[in-house]
Amino acid sequence: MARPAGAPSHSDDTRPMNQTIYLDYAATTPVDPRVAETMTQYLTPEGVFANPASRSHALGWQAEAAVEGARRQVADLLCCDSREIVWTSGATESDNLAIKGAVAANRDRGSHIITSAVEHKAVIDTCEWLEGQGCEVTWLQPDEAGRVQPEQVVEALREDTVLVSLMAVNNELGVCNDITGLGGTLRERGVLFHVDAAQAAGKMALDLNQMPVDLLSLSAHKVYGPKGMGALYVRRSPDVRIEAQIHGGGHERGMRSGTLATHQIAGMGHAFEIAAEELAGESQRLEMLRSRFLEQVSVLPDMAFNGHDSERVPGILNLGFAGVDGESLTLALRGVAVSSGSACSSASMSPSYVLKSIGLSDELAQGSLRFSFGRFTTEEEVDQAAEKLVDAVTKLRDQGARRRRTV
Ligand SMILES: *Cc1c(COP(=O)(O)O)cnc(C)c1O
Repeated sequence: MARPAGAPSHSDDTRPMNQTIYLDYAATTPVDPRVAETMTQYLTPEGVFANPASRSHALGWQAEAAVEGARRQVADLLCCDSREIVWTSGATESDNLAIKGAVAANRDRGSHIITSAVEHKAVIDTCEWLEGQGCEVTWLQPDEAGRVQPEQVVEALREDTVLVSLMAVNNELGVCNDITGLGGTLRERGVLFHVDAAQAAGKMALDLNQMPVDLLSLSAHKVYGPKGMGALYVRRSPDVRIEAQIHGGGHERGMRSGTLATHQIAGMGHAFEIAAEELAGESQRLEMLRSRFLEQVSVLPDMAFNGHDSERVPGILNLGFAGVDGESLTLALRGVAVSSGSACSSASMSPSYVLKSIGLSDELAQGSLRFSFGRFTTEEEVDQAAEKLVDAVTKLRDQGARRRRTV
């Protein structure tokens, strides 16, 4: 299997640190070694460490050039103007800035927001907080595949609606929303459209020239860049106004103050450039790995597929195993890192709100796992993980059956 230059090989003896098969790329990705190499050039005394806002010396100009180069790299993946990119600390901050910022800038027009029940917590918690501040929120319920339909948005629109916030790709299901369809009528109604694209960037083509999107959230660490780094796209034409949520210094054209983290920004830029270059090949390879895995685990009876057959990204697969508890299954799958529910809710034992929203019973939601594949996943890893999964599910079901016979 061809690997990207500089990528570590998992099949030889130099495999780093542990033997874990990592199938949790939707939770986070490792930094691509090429990106890590870039980042080290902006830290030490020999590197370009100066403040990008320093206008009085060449070191500052160099740092600024690095920041602007990275802004171009991120904009290129989205087919937008680099002046439309605002650096943030991640998609959580981008979601907060987009939603709170748009609502605050449009107070005179109304305070009604439309979103869905299956958004990431960064959107849900922000909208719930705004409800406490006097905003009204309509929570759309997705269909059984996890998708919101354009008619639902149109029906929910009111005179005082200021913002619609819907995700491009669901992080638990991998399902894609029809962003162009969902945003189609919003501009003529004067309603802003925010899209959380943390799981979409680098995994599908995003052309903001063509998409009726005003605000779009990005995260670096879902795309082989560093954690703690993200961006918000803010459309310039027609001009979208948001109110800053972090004040001080007026960086990022007043929308987000704070000294720019040059190494993080350069890392995100390089990661997005690589994603653009390798998108087509990587999608094909992930699709192959996903179907290879699915084929092998399909020997299991009573397996439910959560999501949509075709409207999805290639790297995420959500499967339900009736009669098996997901927590027990993740434990039984020792050596394979996967997610039960989403990473954010797996600290608690409550079933995933996303799976519940698409109509799964508590039991089947508890018995579902998310497998997510990525740049460094190999065929051998997929085969091993599939074998372990079949063994573990079979064993847990046998145990359950024995327990039922003895009581
Ligand atoms: C990971 C993720 C986020 C949060 O991104 P951070 O950069 O970790 O703050 C938001 N939305 C979605 C859909 C995500 O997958």
